[in-house]
Amino acid sequence: MAKGNILFVEDNNSQGKLTKKFLEELGYAVTWVIDGMSAMGSVITQSFDVILLDRILPDMDGNVLCTWLKHNQNTKVIPIIVISAKDTTADIVQGLDSGADDYISKPYEEVELNARVRAALRMKLLQDQLRQKNDELEEMLTKVETLSNTDPLTGLFNRRRFDDILRLEFNKAMRYKSPLSCIMIDIDHFKAVNDTYGHTVGDVVIKDVAEIIKRSVRDVDTACRWGGDEFIVLTPMTTNANAELSAQRILKSVSDHVFKSVNNNVTVSIGIADVSRADVDTVSKLIHAADTTLFEAKMKGRNRIEVGGGDATKRI
Ligand code: GH3
Ligand code: MG
Repeated sequence: MAKGNILFVEDNNSQGKLTKKFLEELGYAVTWVIDGMSAMGSVITQSFDVILLDRILPDMDGNVLCTWLKHNQNTKVIPIIVISAKDTTADIVQGLDSGADDYISKPYEEVELNARVRAALRMKLLQDQLRQKNDELEEMLTKVETLSNTDPLTGLFNRRRFDDILRLEFNKAMRYKSPLSCIMIDIDHFKAVNDTYGHTVGDVVIKDVAEIIKRSVRDVDTACRWGGDEFIVLTPMTTNANAELSAQRILKSVSDHVFKSVNNNVTVSIGIADVSRADVDTVSKLIHAADTTLFEAKMKGRNRIEVGGGDATKRI
């Protein structure tokens, strides 16, 4: 395996041959190109650890190519060593300001070129390690964020995350006088499921109901496990009447579903409320209205939907 992949941009044939041979003998893999356009093509198809760049190229100024490489997302981390016969202080400053990481004057001693390539490789290695650590950190942060927003049993949003979305959607609904409905769902006689079949089977029932809810709502809706055997779906831009259609899908799918290890049917009761009600002017009042309607559904015999009364002329 090569010690590193070097892109060598040099239009002088004899210089190019000599340096390529020298670097290859040291164990580097060298791609030698003779102009700027070929260099731009090479970095698209191959990955490099170091770029050795002649300052004067037949088709473009090496400094321009250097700036392009440092602005390109895929190549900006590759160390660039500019090699040039132009070696005044002004030339060196201009080269480094174009984005070069190092500058070496022609003619150069091979041993010095080798030392500079090694230094560039060390820098590249450190950058690669840093990038990898960053990626790992970002991945971990995403996981932590997901965990803190998600109910572990069902994968639905937890109450914490739901509260944020609810506040946001409620404020939008108030501001733009748009409809917003809240569907509250509770499994009927769930204690009996736990008592008869055990907590583990109870967990499977909760998971299955959550899956049915997920499948029954739109992408724009937010479903959450409110706690225990209770769920909430928030349906923005939706009146009670339309929310009831989603609720009917949930009610039917649950009662039709065959729950593993449970002999009798599992059913849910559902309460719906929306912001058109005159008394619903805060987030907690919307939740309370949905909860009260759910209670009515329970009282009226379960496995049914109750819709909280609304004043259609109030806001929507
Ligand atoms: P109702 O029809 O009136 O809703 O009656 P119910 O028996 O379902 O009563 P309730 O909704 O109050 O019962 C909720 C039960 O859910 C009580 C609690 O032991 C159980 N529970 C809460 N969280 C979990 C859980 O994560 N897993 C399991 N298996 N049971 C849970
Ligand atoms: Mg219940």
